[in-house]
Amino acid sequence: MQKLLLIVLFCSCFACQSRTQQAEPEPAMSPNAERFYEKHPEYRVAGLETRRFKLEDIEPMIKALPAPFTVKLAGKSFQNRNIYHVSIGTGPVKVLMWSQMHGDESTATMALMDLFQFLQKKDEFDSLRQVLLSKLTLHFIPMLNPDGANRFTRRNMQGIDINRDAMRLQTPEGRILKRIRDETKADWGFNLHDQNIYLGAGVSPYPASISVLAPAYNYTKDINETRGDAMRLIGVMNQLLQKHIPKQVGRYDDAFEPRAFGDNIQKWGTRTILIESGGLKGDPENQMLRRLNFSIFLTALEAIAMEKYKEWNYTAYEGLPENQPGGFHDLVVRKVQVMRNDKWYKVDLAFRREEVNYDNSRKFFYRANIAEMGDLMNTNGYDEIELEGYQAVPGSIKPGVIGWEEASKLDHLALLRQGITDVQVSTWPESLELSKLGVLLIRPRPNPANPGSSTAINLGSGGSILLQKDGKTEYAVVNGFLIKVQ
Ligand SMILES: [Zn+2]
Repeated sequence: MQKLLLIVLFCSCFACQSRTQQAEPEPAMSPNAERFYEKHPEYRVAGLETRRFKLEDIEPMIKALPAPFTVKLAGKSFQNRNIYHVSIGTGPVKVLMWSQMHGDESTATMALMDLFQFLQKKDEFDSLRQVLLSKLTLHFIPMLNPDGANRFTRRNMQGIDINRDAMRLQTPEGRILKRIRDETKADWGFNLHDQNIYLGAGVSPYPASISVLAPAYNYTKDINETRGDAMRLIGVMNQLLQKHIPKQVGRYDDAFEPRAFGDNIQKWGTRTILIESGGLKGDPENQMLRRLNFSIFLTALEAIAMEKYKEWNYTAYEGLPENQPGGFHDLVVRKVQVMRNDKWYKVDLAFRREEVNYDNSRKFFYRANIAEMGDLMNTNGYDEIELEGYQAVPGSIKPGVIGWEEASKLDHLALLRQGITDVQVSTWPESLELSKLGVLLIRPRPNPANPGSSTAINLGSGGSILLQKDGKTEYAVVNGFLIKVQ
């Protein structure tokens, strides 16, 4: 008897329990989860095909939401733009979702517009809708930072990062979020962002296409019931994400940030989940990420309404790889020879393409630079090429200055074969995309007739380079894009 008791005691120890937890299979996925993803095109709102949209693009959609939606003006941004509070449902469990606190992070706003479509349709999900709207009351603040969205910049028009204003509350946008959180006393909070596209999902060949976090509410990162429930719910969402972007789900840095909204809202007793959309190959305007956001929002709401999250432990959350800064670049060219002081040596070259807004921040062009060089074995490229034995040399600049019209008629491959990567142009319309023509367009040099080479192969340089084998140019990199020349 005593022996048996000992065994029972031993087996309930923490280490043994967590081993048992890991061995347990995950609870079954809701049959609806995959259907949300499949059916998304039916709810996808037209007119939001790119990330750079503004309040005036979504405001008519919000104002037109029919009953039982209620649409209230929550307040005004610093520059006097409208911020809306949309709600629907009559249930006792309150859920608050806010998007685009950072003006240039619009993926979740698109997904919320699609979710509003879903909630007002009549179709095969009617019984689910009834469950959602009778068990939950949903509150939304789509586009919390319309001034930032207008200029497609992170901060508000006071130059303040709203996500560092949860305590001081100097921004009207931050005060609106705080007030609605306090008024609704939300049981659940979804803090919806986009993250740097260059984060890896752990040390791996995979980008963190979506990252999640149950933010810490204190420096010691304790897990109370509130934060624990957020972790459980992340397990539910991760299960669906892994089907579509396997190994590309990361865990955001969980260091406590005392000024951030997510961390404080968790502290104030709302089970808070951060969702960050990152980079996904072949999805420059985040339309696939929008679809995934839509699908996991609904999966999460169903799991809250049906209390399915309670079947989960923390194992799935804790097993997610941490975001790895510097893990990704747009293009990595591996094992090429470069020369300095007449000495050749082997490097990998990593390029990043910075987005530059134009056309009233409705469009962008890329301006690339060499972001890292050396042994980059721990870095991945969305595009990669290994060119062992090739020599990377700076391209040359075409002598003479021409107009935009003439430049647009150039045969860029013929120029690249001659070793010319850069062309000097006299006119510089706002819409000029630096490398749309396959060569880099630059302003005239001091001596346009004899302009010399593009910048050397240095960190931070624009890096128009030729990749040569036996003196023959076979590839070029122009503004961060690899071009096959031969
Ligand atoms: Zn953000």
